[in-house]
Amino acid sequence: MFGTSVTFLRNSSNNMPQNEISVLGAGLVGSLLGSLIKEKGFSVDVYEMRTDPRSSEVKGGRSINLALSHRGIRALQLAGVYDQIKNELIPMKGRRMHDLNGELYTQPYGKEHEFINSVSRNGLNQLLISHAENRGVNFHFDHKCTDINLDETIISFTNGKSVHSKVLLGSDGAYSMLRQKMEHKDRFNFQQHYIEHGYKELRMEPRNGTFAMEPNFLHIWPRGNFMLIALPNPDCSFTCTLFFPFEGHLSFESLREPNKVEGFFKHYFPDVIDLIPDYLEQFQQNATSSLVTIRTSPWCYNNSMLIGDAGHAIVPFYGQGMNAGFEDCRLFMEWGEKLGFDWDKLLVFFSQHRKADADAIADLALNNFIEMRDHVADERFLNIKKVEARLQKAYPDIWLPLYSMVTFSDMPYSQAYKIGKLQKEVMNTLEEGFDPDRVELQPLIDRFNNLMQDAH
Ligand code: FAD
Repeated sequence: MFGTSVTFLRNSSNNMPQNEISVLGAGLVGSLLGSLIKEKGFSVDVYEMRTDPRSSEVKGGRSINLALSHRGIRALQLAGVYDQIKNELIPMKGRRMHDLNGELYTQPYGKEHEFINSVSRNGLNQLLISHAENRGVNFHFDHKCTDINLDETIISFTNGKSVHSKVLLGSDGAYSMLRQKMEHKDRFNFQQHYIEHGYKELRMEPRNGTFAMEPNFLHIWPRGNFMLIALPNPDCSFTCTLFFPFEGHLSFESLREPNKVEGFFKHYFPDVIDLIPDYLEQFQQNATSSLVTIRTSPWCYNNSMLIGDAGHAIVPFYGQGMNAGFEDCRLFMEWGEKLGFDWDKLLVFFSQHRKADADAIADLALNNFIEMRDHVADERFLNIKKVEARLQKAYPDIWLPLYSMVTFSDMPYSQAYKIGKLQKEVMNTLEEGFDPDRVELQPLIDRFNNLMQDAH
Protein backbone atom coordinates (compact mmCIF):
# COMPACT_ATOMS: atom_id res chain seq x y z
CA MET A 1 0.00 0.00 0.00
CA PHE A 2 1.26 3.49 -0.76
CA GLY A 3 1.98 5.91 2.04
CA THR A 4 1.76 3.59 5.03
CA SER A 5 3.23 4.66 8.35
CA VAL A 6 6.95 5.28 8.74
CA THR A 7 8.48 2.89 11.24
CA PHE A 8 12.16 2.73 12.08
CA LEU A 9 13.07 -0.96 11.99
CA ARG A 10 16.21 -2.05 13.80
CA ASN A 11 18.05 -4.72 11.89
CA SER A 12 20.51 -5.28 14.71
CA SER A 13 20.50 -9.04 14.21
CA ASN A 14 22.47 -8.83 10.96
CA ASN A 15 24.58 -5.76 11.80
CA MET A 16 23.16 -3.84 8.88
CA PRO A 17 23.86 -0.09 9.14
CA GLN A 18 20.80 1.88 10.25
CA ASN A 19 20.45 5.29 8.63
CA GLU A 20 18.01 7.97 9.62
CA ILE A 21 17.69 9.58 6.16
CA SER A 22 19.25 8.05 3.05
CA VAL A 23 19.39 9.97 -0.22
CA LEU A 24 20.02 7.98 -3.38
CA GLY A 25 22.00 9.98 -5.99
CA ALA A 26 24.40 12.87 -5.38
CA GLY A 27 23.41 14.77 -8.52
CA LEU A 28 22.14 18.34 -8.37
CA VAL A 29 18.97 17.54 -6.45
CA GLY A 30 20.34 14.90 -4.06
CA SER A 31 23.27 17.00 -2.91
CA LEU A 32 21.10 20.09 -2.33
CA LEU A 33 18.40 18.06 -0.57
CA GLY A 34 20.97 16.38 1.67
CA SER A 35 22.30 19.67 2.95
CA LEU A 36 18.82 21.14 3.53
CA ILE A 37 17.68 18.13 5.56
CA LYS A 38 20.91 17.96 7.53
CA GLU A 39 20.47 21.58 8.52
CA LYS A 40 17.25 20.62 10.27
CA GLY A 41 19.20 18.31 12.56
CA PHE A 42 18.66 14.94 10.86
CA SER A 43 21.43 12.51 10.09
CA VAL A 44 21.84 12.18 6.29
CA ASP A 45 23.73 9.65 4.16
CA VAL A 46 23.95 10.14 0.38
CA TYR A 47 24.80 7.22 -1.94
CA GLU A 48 26.17 7.87 -5.43
CA MET A 49 27.25 5.39 -8.08
CA ARG A 50 29.85 7.70 -9.61
CA THR A 51 33.27 8.49 -8.25
CA ASP A 52 33.46 11.76 -6.33
CA PRO A 53 33.29 14.41 -9.12
CA ARG A 54 35.70 16.58 -7.13
CA SER A 55 38.44 14.01 -7.57
CA SER A 56 37.74 12.60 -11.00
CA GLU A 57 37.62 13.65 -14.60
CA VAL A 58 33.99 14.21 -15.67
CA LYS A 59 32.82 12.15 -18.61
CA GLY A 60 30.75 13.94 -21.25
CA GLY A 61 27.21 12.97 -22.15
CA ARG A 62 24.89 15.18 -20.10
CA SER A 63 24.71 18.90 -20.78
CA ILE A 64 27.84 20.78 -19.69
CA ASN A 65 26.01 23.93 -18.69
CA LEU A 66 22.47 24.71 -17.63
CA ALA A 67 20.18 27.71 -17.37
CA LEU A 68 19.61 28.55 -13.71
CA SER A 69 16.69 30.86 -12.95
CA HIS A 70 14.58 32.20 -10.10
CA ARG A 71 13.15 28.95 -8.72
CA GLY A 72 16.56 27.31 -8.59
CA ILE A 73 18.19 30.40 -7.12
CA ARG A 74 15.61 30.58 -4.31
CA ALA A 75 16.39 27.03 -3.27
CA LEU A 76 20.14 27.68 -3.39
CA GLN A 77 19.58 30.74 -1.21
CA LEU A 78 17.59 28.67 1.27
CA ALA A 79 20.55 26.31 1.53
CA GLY A 80 22.90 29.28 2.04
CA VAL A 81 25.00 28.32 -0.99
CA TYR A 82 23.94 30.84 -3.62
CA ASP A 83 26.56 33.45 -2.71
CA GLN A 84 29.28 30.92 -3.41
CA ILE A 85 28.15 30.35 -6.99
CA LYS A 86 26.74 33.69 -8.07
CA ASN A 87 30.04 35.07 -9.36
CA GLU A 88 30.40 32.04 -11.63
CA LEU A 89 27.07 32.67 -13.37
CA ILE A 90 26.84 34.22 -16.81
CA PRO A 91 23.62 36.23 -17.20
CA MET A 92 21.64 35.69 -20.40
CA LYS A 93 19.16 38.52 -20.83
CA GLY A 94 17.35 37.23 -23.90
CA ARG A 95 17.31 35.07 -26.98
CA ARG A 96 19.64 35.99 -29.81
CA MET A 97 18.34 34.44 -32.99
CA HIS A 98 20.59 33.64 -35.96
CA ASP A 99 18.71 33.44 -39.25
CA LEU A 100 19.82 31.58 -42.37
CA ASN A 101 21.65 34.65 -43.68
CA GLY A 102 23.55 35.14 -40.43
CA GLU A 103 21.37 38.14 -39.47
CA LEU A 104 20.84 38.50 -35.71
CA TYR A 105 17.59 39.33 -33.88
CA THR A 106 17.23 39.82 -30.16
CA GLN A 107 14.25 39.06 -27.97
CA PRO A 108 14.50 39.97 -24.25
CA TYR A 109 13.36 37.35 -21.76
CA GLY A 110 11.60 39.78 -19.48
CA LYS A 111 12.02 43.22 -17.98
CA GLU A 112 15.45 44.84 -18.01
CA HIS A 113 16.62 43.36 -14.72
CA GLU A 114 15.31 39.86 -15.54
CA PHE A 115 17.68 37.29 -16.93
CA ILE A 116 18.53 33.61 -16.74
CA ASN A 117 22.02 32.35 -15.93
CA SER A 118 24.37 29.90 -17.55
CA VAL A 119 26.01 27.70 -14.91
CA SER A 120 28.41 24.77 -15.11
CA ARG A 121 26.62 21.52 -14.20
CA ASN A 122 29.73 19.98 -12.77
CA GLY A 123 30.87 23.14 -10.96
CA LEU A 124 27.48 23.50 -9.30
CA ASN A 125 27.31 19.81 -8.40
CA GLN A 126 30.76 19.90 -6.81
CA LEU A 127 29.88 23.00 -4.82
CA LEU A 128 26.65 21.44 -3.55
CA ILE A 129 28.46 18.27 -2.47
CA SER A 130 31.15 20.22 -0.60
CA HIS A 131 28.55 22.44 1.02
CA ALA A 132 26.53 19.43 2.21
CA GLU A 133 29.66 17.66 3.40
CA ASN A 134 30.69 20.72 5.42
CA ARG A 135 27.31 20.60 7.11
CA GLY A 136 27.92 17.00 8.11
CA VAL A 137 26.21 14.98 5.37
CA ASN A 138 27.95 11.61 4.81
CA PHE A 139 28.65 10.94 1.12
CA HIS A 140 29.31 7.41 -0.14
CA PHE A 141 30.67 7.52 -3.70
CA ASP A 142 31.19 4.45 -5.90
CA HIS A 143 28.03 3.02 -4.38
CA LYS A 144 25.79 1.85 -7.19
CA CYS A 145 22.41 0.77 -5.89
CA THR A 146 21.31 -2.50 -7.47
CA ASP A 147 18.33 -3.45 -5.38
CA ILE A 148 15.82 -1.92 -2.98
CA ASN A 149 13.50 -3.73 -0.63
CA LEU A 150 10.69 -1.20 -0.41
CA ASP A 151 8.80 -2.93 2.36
CA GLU A 152 11.84 -2.94 4.65
CA THR A 153 13.49 0.21 3.18
CA ILE A 154 16.78 -1.58 2.56
CA ILE A 155 19.09 -0.52 -0.26
CA SER A 156 21.78 -2.83 -1.62
CA PHE A 157 24.86 -1.91 -3.61
CA THR A 158 27.15 -3.57 -6.14
CA ASN A 159 29.88 -3.74 -3.50
CA GLY A 160 27.75 -6.20 -1.51
CA LYS A 161 26.78 -3.72 1.22
CA SER A 162 23.18 -3.12 2.32
CA VAL A 163 21.74 -0.39 4.47
CA HIS A 164 18.43 0.10 6.22
CA SER A 165 16.89 3.58 6.43
CA LYS A 166 14.11 5.24 8.31
CA VAL A 167 13.41 7.31 5.18
CA LEU A 168 14.76 6.85 1.66
CA LEU A 169 14.64 9.75 -0.81
CA GLY A 170 15.34 8.82 -4.42
CA SER A 171 17.05 11.61 -6.35
CA ASP A 172 18.67 9.09 -8.67
CA GLY A 173 17.61 10.76 -11.88
CA ALA A 174 15.55 9.93 -14.94
CA TYR A 175 16.49 6.22 -14.88
CA SER A 176 15.89 5.90 -11.14
CA MET A 177 16.38 2.51 -9.49
CA LEU A 178 13.93 3.49 -6.75
CA ARG A 179 11.28 4.23 -9.36
CA GLN A 180 11.94 0.93 -11.12
CA LYS A 181 11.24 -0.84 -7.86
CA MET A 182 8.04 1.14 -7.30
CA GLU A 183 6.88 0.17 -10.80
CA HIS A 184 6.42 -3.38 -9.55
CA LYS A 185 3.95 -2.28 -6.90
CA ASP A 186 0.20 -2.28 -7.29
CA ARG A 187 -1.46 0.93 -8.56
CA PHE A 188 1.79 2.65 -9.50
CA ASN A 189 1.39 4.78 -12.64
CA PHE A 190 4.30 5.24 -14.98
CA GLN A 191 4.56 6.90 -18.37
CA GLN A 192 7.75 7.34 -20.38
CA HIS A 193 7.90 9.21 -23.66
CA TYR A 194 10.93 9.74 -25.88
CA ILE A 195 10.56 12.61 -28.34
CA GLU A 196 11.67 11.98 -31.91
CA HIS A 197 14.60 14.37 -31.45
CA GLY A 198 17.92 13.71 -29.80
CA TYR A 199 20.77 16.07 -29.07
CA LYS A 200 24.46 16.44 -29.73
CA GLU A 201 26.81 18.93 -28.08
CA LEU A 202 29.52 20.88 -29.92
CA ARG A 203 32.06 23.15 -28.27
CA MET A 204 32.74 26.63 -29.64
CA GLU A 205 36.23 27.66 -28.55
CA PRO A 206 37.07 31.21 -27.41
CA ARG A 207 38.38 33.54 -30.07
CA ASN A 208 41.35 35.84 -29.40
CA GLY A 209 41.01 35.04 -25.70
CA THR A 210 37.38 36.02 -25.47
CA PHE A 211 33.88 34.86 -26.44
CA ALA A 212 33.40 34.25 -30.16
CA MET A 213 29.83 35.60 -29.86
CA GLU A 214 28.07 38.02 -27.49
CA PRO A 215 28.03 36.06 -24.19
CA ASN A 216 24.99 37.54 -22.46
CA PHE A 217 22.41 35.80 -24.60
CA LEU A 218 21.09 32.34 -25.21
CA HIS A 219 21.86 31.96 -28.91
CA ILE A 220 19.35 30.11 -31.07
CA TRP A 221 19.45 29.04 -34.69
CA PRO A 222 15.74 28.16 -35.17
CA ARG A 223 15.25 26.02 -38.25
CA GLY A 224 11.66 24.78 -38.17
CA ASN A 225 11.79 21.14 -37.19
CA PHE A 226 15.17 21.43 -35.48
CA MET A 227 17.46 23.98 -33.86
CA LEU A 228 20.91 24.71 -32.54
CA ILE A 229 21.38 26.62 -29.30
CA ALA A 230 24.48 27.93 -27.50
CA LEU A 231 25.08 28.82 -23.85
CA PRO A 232 28.25 30.59 -22.64
CA ASN A 233 30.83 29.05 -20.27
CA PRO A 234 33.12 30.87 -17.81
CA ASP A 235 36.22 29.89 -19.89
CA CYS A 236 34.81 32.01 -22.77
CA SER A 237 33.73 28.97 -24.77
CA PHE A 238 30.13 28.19 -25.72
CA THR A 239 28.44 24.82 -25.44
CA CYS A 240 26.25 24.43 -28.50
CA THR A 241 23.52 21.80 -28.64
CA LEU A 242 21.89 20.56 -31.83
CA PHE A 243 18.34 19.26 -31.23
CA PHE A 244 17.63 17.14 -34.27
CA PRO A 245 15.44 14.15 -35.25
CA PHE A 246 16.99 10.71 -34.90
CA GLU A 247 15.41 9.47 -38.12
CA GLY A 248 13.93 10.84 -41.32
CA HIS A 249 14.88 12.98 -44.31
CA LEU A 250 16.99 15.41 -42.26
CA SER A 251 18.19 13.52 -39.19
CA PHE A 252 21.19 12.14 -37.36
CA GLU A 253 20.63 8.96 -39.35
CA SER A 254 20.72 10.81 -42.67
CA LEU A 255 24.00 12.57 -41.78
CA ARG A 256 26.30 9.59 -41.56
CA GLU A 257 28.74 10.61 -44.30
CA PRO A 258 31.08 13.60 -43.78
CA ASN A 259 30.00 15.32 -47.01
CA LYS A 260 26.36 15.21 -45.86
CA VAL A 261 27.27 16.84 -42.55
CA GLU A 262 29.24 19.53 -44.39
CA GLY A 263 26.38 20.17 -46.80
CA PHE A 264 23.94 20.36 -43.89
CA PHE A 265 25.99 22.93 -41.96
CA LYS A 266 26.69 25.00 -45.10
CA HIS A 267 22.99 25.20 -45.80
CA TYR A 268 21.46 25.57 -42.33
CA PHE A 269 24.22 27.00 -40.14
CA PRO A 270 26.61 28.87 -42.46
CA ASP A 271 27.79 31.26 -39.73
CA VAL A 272 28.60 28.35 -37.40
CA ILE A 273 31.24 26.93 -39.76
CA ASP A 274 33.52 29.85 -39.06
CA LEU A 275 32.73 29.83 -35.34
CA ILE A 276 33.34 26.07 -34.88
CA PRO A 277 36.00 25.20 -37.48
CA ASP A 278 36.23 21.56 -36.29
CA TYR A 279 32.44 21.09 -36.30
CA LEU A 280 32.71 18.03 -38.56
CA GLU A 281 35.08 16.12 -36.27
CA GLN A 282 33.00 17.01 -33.25
CA PHE A 283 29.78 16.03 -35.01
CA GLN A 284 31.23 12.64 -35.83
CA GLN A 285 32.86 12.02 -32.45
CA ASN A 286 30.42 13.41 -29.91
CA ALA A 287 27.63 11.31 -28.49
CA THR A 288 24.02 11.60 -29.59
CA SER A 289 21.65 11.43 -26.62
CA SER A 290 17.91 11.00 -26.29
CA LEU A 291 15.30 13.18 -24.55
CA VAL A 292 12.63 11.71 -22.35
CA THR A 293 9.59 12.84 -20.35
CA ILE A 294 8.71 10.70 -17.36
CA ARG A 295 5.47 10.96 -15.41
CA THR A 296 4.77 8.87 -12.37
CA SER A 297 2.36 8.74 -9.48
CA PRO A 298 2.37 8.37 -6.60
CA TRP A 299 5.94 9.37 -5.82
CA CYS A 300 6.03 7.56 -2.49
CA TYR A 301 5.73 4.03 -1.24
CA ASN A 302 6.00 3.12 2.43
CA ASN A 303 9.07 5.08 3.69
CA SER A 304 10.53 5.96 0.26
CA MET A 305 9.88 8.89 -2.05
CA LEU A 306 11.02 10.05 -5.49
CA ILE A 307 12.21 13.63 -6.02
CA GLY A 308 13.69 15.60 -8.95
CA ASP A 309 14.11 13.84 -12.30
CA ALA A 310 13.45 10.47 -10.66
CA GLY A 311 9.79 11.43 -10.30
CA HIS A 312 9.39 13.86 -13.18
CA ALA A 313 12.08 14.04 -15.87
CA ILE A 314 11.24 16.61 -18.56
CA VAL A 315 12.70 17.74 -21.88
CA PRO A 316 15.10 20.69 -21.51
CA PHE A 317 13.34 23.31 -23.64
CA TYR A 318 12.10 25.51 -20.83
CA GLY A 319 15.41 25.26 -18.95
CA GLN A 320 13.44 24.10 -15.91
CA GLY A 321 14.40 20.48 -15.07
CA MET A 322 17.02 21.38 -12.48
CA ASN A 323 15.08 24.48 -11.39
CA ALA A 324 11.99 22.34 -10.78
CA GLY A 325 14.09 19.78 -8.88
CA PHE A 326 15.56 22.53 -6.71
CA GLU A 327 12.08 23.93 -6.13
CA ASP A 328 11.02 20.40 -5.09
CA CYS A 329 13.69 20.62 -2.38
CA ARG A 330 12.52 24.02 -1.14
CA LEU A 331 8.87 22.97 -1.00
CA PHE A 332 9.76 19.66 0.64
CA MET A 333 11.49 21.59 3.44
CA GLU A 334 8.72 24.17 3.78
CA TRP A 335 6.01 21.52 3.91
CA GLY A 336 8.23 19.51 6.25
CA GLU A 337 8.31 22.43 8.68
CA LYS A 338 4.54 22.75 8.52
CA LEU A 339 4.06 19.05 9.20
CA GLY A 340 6.67 19.00 11.97
CA PHE A 341 8.77 16.62 9.87
CA ASP A 342 6.26 13.88 10.42
CA TRP A 343 7.83 11.83 7.60
CA ASP A 344 4.84 9.60 7.18
CA LYS A 345 2.63 12.58 6.39
CA LEU A 346 5.30 14.57 4.54
CA LEU A 347 6.09 11.95 1.89
CA VAL A 348 2.43 11.54 1.01
CA PHE A 349 1.70 15.28 1.17
CA PHE A 350 4.62 16.16 -1.12
CA SER A 351 3.76 13.43 -3.57
CA GLN A 352 0.16 14.61 -3.80
CA HIS A 353 0.69 18.37 -3.79
CA ARG A 354 3.61 18.67 -6.21
CA LYS A 355 2.37 16.32 -8.91
CA ALA A 356 0.17 18.79 -10.83
CA ASP A 357 3.09 21.20 -11.10
CA ALA A 358 5.41 18.51 -12.39
CA ASP A 359 2.85 17.57 -15.04
CA ALA A 360 2.40 21.22 -16.03
CA ILE A 361 6.10 21.93 -16.50
CA ALA A 362 6.45 18.69 -18.49
CA ASP A 363 3.80 19.95 -20.94
CA LEU A 364 5.19 23.48 -20.98
CA ALA A 365 8.66 22.16 -21.79
CA LEU A 366 7.35 20.11 -24.71
CA ASN A 367 5.40 23.12 -26.05
CA ASN A 368 8.40 25.38 -25.71
CA PHE A 369 10.39 23.23 -28.12
CA ILE A 370 7.97 24.17 -30.86
CA GLU A 371 8.22 27.81 -29.83
CA MET A 372 12.02 27.85 -29.81
CA ARG A 373 12.74 25.90 -32.95
CA ASP A 374 9.91 27.29 -35.04
CA HIS A 375 7.92 30.25 -33.72
CA VAL A 376 10.77 32.48 -32.57
CA ALA A 377 11.49 33.11 -36.22
CA ASP A 378 7.83 33.81 -36.97
CA GLU A 379 6.67 37.41 -37.43
CA ARG A 380 3.27 36.97 -35.76
CA PHE A 381 4.90 35.30 -32.77
CA LEU A 382 7.40 38.14 -32.38
CA ASN A 383 4.64 40.74 -32.67
CA ILE A 384 2.61 38.96 -29.99
CA LYS A 385 5.63 39.12 -27.72
CA LYS A 386 5.76 42.88 -28.31
CA VAL A 387 2.08 43.28 -27.41
CA GLU A 388 2.64 41.17 -24.30
CA ALA A 389 5.53 43.41 -23.26
CA ARG A 390 3.24 46.46 -23.67
CA LEU A 391 0.51 44.74 -21.65
CA GLN A 392 2.96 43.86 -18.90
CA LYS A 393 4.15 47.46 -18.75
CA ALA A 394 0.67 48.98 -18.75
CA TYR A 395 -0.98 46.39 -16.46
CA PRO A 396 1.85 44.94 -14.36
CA ASP A 397 -0.55 43.54 -11.75
CA ILE A 398 -2.71 41.77 -14.30
CA TRP A 399 -0.55 40.58 -17.17
CA LEU A 400 2.60 38.58 -16.58
CA PRO A 401 3.73 36.74 -19.74
CA LEU A 402 3.87 32.95 -19.45
CA TYR A 403 7.65 32.84 -19.81
CA SER A 404 7.99 35.27 -16.89
CA MET A 405 5.54 33.33 -14.71
CA VAL A 406 7.54 30.15 -15.29
CA THR A 407 11.03 31.61 -15.18
CA PHE A 408 10.95 34.65 -12.93
CA SER A 409 8.26 33.82 -10.36
CA ASP A 410 7.33 31.22 -7.73
CA MET A 411 3.82 30.79 -9.05
CA PRO A 412 2.97 27.07 -9.12
CA TYR A 413 3.70 25.76 -12.62
CA SER A 414 0.15 24.42 -12.90
CA GLN A 415 -1.30 27.88 -12.25
CA ALA A 416 1.08 29.52 -14.73
CA TYR A 417 0.10 26.92 -17.31
CA LYS A 418 -3.63 27.63 -16.85
CA ILE A 419 -3.19 31.40 -17.03
CA GLY A 420 -0.93 31.01 -20.07
CA LYS A 421 -3.70 29.15 -21.89
CA LEU A 422 -6.12 32.04 -21.25
CA GLN A 423 -3.53 34.55 -22.42
CA LYS A 424 -3.12 32.56 -25.61
CA GLU A 425 -6.85 32.65 -26.14
CA VAL A 426 -6.75 36.46 -25.86
CA MET A 427 -3.83 36.76 -28.27
CA ASN A 428 -5.56 34.50 -30.79
CA THR A 429 -8.15 37.25 -31.18
CA LEU A 430 -5.56 39.56 -32.78
CA GLU A 431 -6.17 39.92 -36.48
CA GLU A 432 -3.65 38.81 -39.10
CA GLY A 433 -1.05 41.51 -39.81
CA PHE A 434 -1.80 43.54 -36.65
CA ASP A 435 0.57 46.36 -35.75
CA PRO A 436 2.06 45.50 -32.32
CA ASP A 437 2.70 49.15 -31.47
CA ARG A 438 -0.87 50.27 -32.17
CA VAL A 439 -3.03 47.42 -30.91
CA GLU A 440 -5.48 48.72 -28.29
CA LEU A 441 -4.67 47.14 -24.96
CA GLN A 442 -7.84 47.77 -22.96
CA PRO A 443 -10.07 45.32 -24.93
CA LEU A 444 -7.41 42.65 -24.54
CA ILE A 445 -7.22 43.14 -20.79
CA ASP A 446 -11.02 43.17 -20.51
CA ARG A 447 -11.21 39.89 -22.39
CA PHE A 448 -8.51 38.40 -20.20
CA ASN A 449 -10.25 39.52 -17.00
CA ASN A 450 -13.48 37.94 -18.18
CA LEU A 451 -11.75 34.67 -18.98
CA MET A 452 -10.07 34.67 -15.57
CA GLN A 453 -13.40 35.26 -13.87
CA ASP A 454 -15.01 32.43 -15.83
CA ALA A 455 -12.11 30.16 -14.90
CA HIS A 456 -12.78 30.73 -11.20
P1 FAD B 1 20.56 13.78 -12.03
O1 FAD B 1 21.25 15.06 -12.29
O2 FAD B 1 20.39 12.84 -13.15
O3 FAD B 1 21.33 13.05 -10.84
C1 FAD B 1 21.04 11.72 -10.50
C2 FAD B 1 22.24 11.15 -9.75
O4 FAD B 1 21.92 9.84 -9.30
C3 FAD B 1 23.46 11.03 -10.65
O5 FAD B 1 24.58 11.56 -9.99
C4 FAD B 1 23.59 9.52 -10.86
O6 FAD B 1 24.93 9.10 -11.05
C5 FAD B 1 23.00 8.98 -9.57
N1 FAD B 1 22.46 7.62 -9.73
C6 FAD B 1 21.64 7.17 -10.70
N2 FAD B 1 21.37 5.87 -10.52
C7 FAD B 1 22.01 5.48 -9.39
C8 FAD B 1 22.12 4.25 -8.71
N3 FAD B 1 21.52 3.13 -9.15
N4 FAD B 1 22.87 4.19 -7.58
C9 FAD B 1 23.51 5.31 -7.12
N5 FAD B 1 23.46 6.51 -7.75
C10 FAD B 1 22.72 6.60 -8.87
N6 FAD B 1 17.57 21.91 -16.32
C11 FAD B 1 17.52 23.24 -16.06
O7 FAD B 1 16.97 23.66 -15.04
N7 FAD B 1 18.07 24.14 -16.93
C12 FAD B 1 18.67 23.75 -18.10
O8 FAD B 1 19.14 24.60 -18.85
C13 FAD B 1 18.72 22.36 -18.39
N8 FAD B 1 19.31 21.93 -19.53
C14 FAD B 1 19.36 20.60 -19.80
C15 FAD B 1 19.93 20.18 -21.00
C16 FAD B 1 19.97 18.84 -21.32
C17 FAD B 1 20.57 18.42 -22.63
C18 FAD B 1 19.44 17.89 -20.41
C19 FAD B 1 19.46 16.43 -20.74
C20 FAD B 1 18.86 18.30 -19.21
C21 FAD B 1 18.82 19.66 -18.89
N9 FAD B 1 18.23 20.12 -17.71
C22 FAD B 1 18.15 21.45 -17.45
C23 FAD B 1 17.62 19.16 -16.75
C24 FAD B 1 18.58 18.82 -15.60
O9 FAD B 1 19.77 18.29 -16.12
C25 FAD B 1 17.92 17.80 -14.69
O10 FAD B 1 16.61 18.18 -14.38
C26 FAD B 1 18.72 17.66 -13.39
O11 FAD B 1 20.01 17.18 -13.66
C27 FAD B 1 18.00 16.71 -12.44
O12 FAD B 1 18.77 16.53 -11.30
P2 FAD B 1 18.62 15.20 -10.46
O13 FAD B 1 19.59 15.33 -9.34
O14 FAD B 1 17.19 14.92 -10.18
O15 FAD B 1 19.10 14.04 -11.44
